[in-house]
Amino acid sequence: MGKAALAIVGIVLPVLLAYSAAGHLPGTTFPVIALGATAFSLMALNLLVATRAPGVDRMFGGLDQVYFAHKWFGILALACAFLHQQIKISTDGKEVQQALSAAAVEVAEIAFPVLLVLVLISFFKRLPKVPFEIPYQIWRWSHRLLGVVFAALAFHQFFVKAPFDNNALLATHLNVMAVIGLASYGWTIGGPLLRRRKYTVTAVTKHAAATIVDLEPVGKGIDVRPGGFAFVSFGAKGLGEPHPFTVSEVRPNGGIQFSIRGLGDFTKRVRDGLLPGDVARVEGGYGRFDYRAGGPRQVWVAAGIGITPFLSFADSLPATGAPEICLVYCVRTEAEGVGLDRLRRAAERTSSFTFKLHVSEADGRFDAARLVALVPFDITGAALWFCGPAPLRVALAKGLKGLGKSPRSMHFERFEFR
Ligand SMILES: Cc1cc2nc3c(=O)[nH]c(=O)nc-3n(C[C@H](O)[C@H](O)[C@H](O)COP(=O)(O)OP(=O)(O)OC[C@H]3O[C@@H](n4cnc5c(N)ncnc54)[C@H](O)[C@@H]3O)c2cc1C
Repeated sequence: MGKAALAIVGIVLPVLLAYSAAGHLPGTTFPVIALGATAFSLMALNLLVATRAPGVDRMFGGLDQVYFAHKWFGILALACAFLHQQIKISTDGKEVQQALSAAAVEVAEIAFPVLLVLVLISFFKRLPKVPFEIPYQIWRWSHRLLGVVFAALAFHQFFVKAPFDNNALLATHLNVMAVIGLASYGWTIGGPLLRRRKYTVTAVTKHAAATIVDLEPVGKGIDVRPGGFAFVSFGAKGLGEPHPFTVSEVRPNGGIQFSIRGLGDFTKRVRDGLLPGDVARVEGGYGRFDYRAGGPRQVWVAAGIGITPFLSFADSLPATGAPEICLVYCVRTEAEGVGLDRLRRAAERTSSFTFKLHVSEADGRFDAARLVALVPFDITGAALWFCGPAPLRVALAKGLKGLGKSPRSMHFERFEFR
């Protein structure tokens, strides 16, 4: 629904309005106007979806899906902007010379190469065949600057002398898009500061596979469901940048827990530098990974730190009336299992919940056949909820299909936005 709405307002509408405003004009005028209007509309809508507004999140079925669509609509906007810039508009020699219009053209000529570089930085996580990953901070700043480029393009669209009437619906559409894009950008920059809530770190537990951080709110906490995630930063040195983590526990008193795997600078600093009593800032909750939408029979598959949403799911299961669920948790060694006691307690408390641990060092490589063997009911009638590495998810889906055991539906959470 979100992707369709974006395609209609960002592509179909500007093309139709461009046709109504410039379809009768000769030569390349209509395609150039349509490409420019589409590029500008898609950029504005991409800024809107990047605000993490709750309604947007719902329309796309989760924030990770929002970012996925955002990425590909961004690439499409760049392609349209490129063609808009390359194809010359037919003027029949009657080119209008006007200082402001000339300035608007110049602004676009400067903004376009900047746009190109920023979108390429945003698109490539890794350069092909080069063992170097573009640091997240550079990616983040490249994204922030895209808003400035959009402001320059808004100036361009407003002041450039277009070969159609200023009262045309297209002009109104583009002005609305400019307002939406600029307001969204302002909200993206300033919104998190207003939305974030203050917490105190009450415990930092160094588990073999994760650092488990418990937080209590100072005043009103965030509203987050089991399986949801939030952006967290800490007052401690070097931990001021917000990073996304799934809540591994949501307590009735508003307390929350994150289980953080040491992967890079930030997550390793959390392990080494965070102390009870430190201040935390949390913004959320986000995400639509919620087993309650998943039907009466469910298979939950977690690998490694992908256990975090299932820990908070398992805690929230009622003693009776829960769906029939089998959680299969894949770890390399038993010591790497996070929250095993909690999962075992949940299985004792809720009779319809079973928990199976797959230890690959002892049990061998985890695959679709092993999953089918571990689950005590037929997977074909069940919903599969997955959190773990994408290659495992793809291999399981393929393997289950090969065995004629494809689940009724598959739900997964990406631990990655770009
Ligand atoms: C929705 C979601 C839920 C997540 N839940 C968990 C969880 O419960 N437990 C857990 O251990 N990890 C979780 N992650 C992953 C976690 O956010 C990253 O491992 C962490 O941000 C890496 O930061 P770093 O500086 O230590 O590592 P780096 O080596 O700098 O980054 C590793 C990768 O993490 C991503 N990343 C880095 N910084 C950020 C940032 N500020 N915001 C967004 N992504 C970033 C980038 O894709 C980068 O390539 C989740 C990620 C997402 C998107």
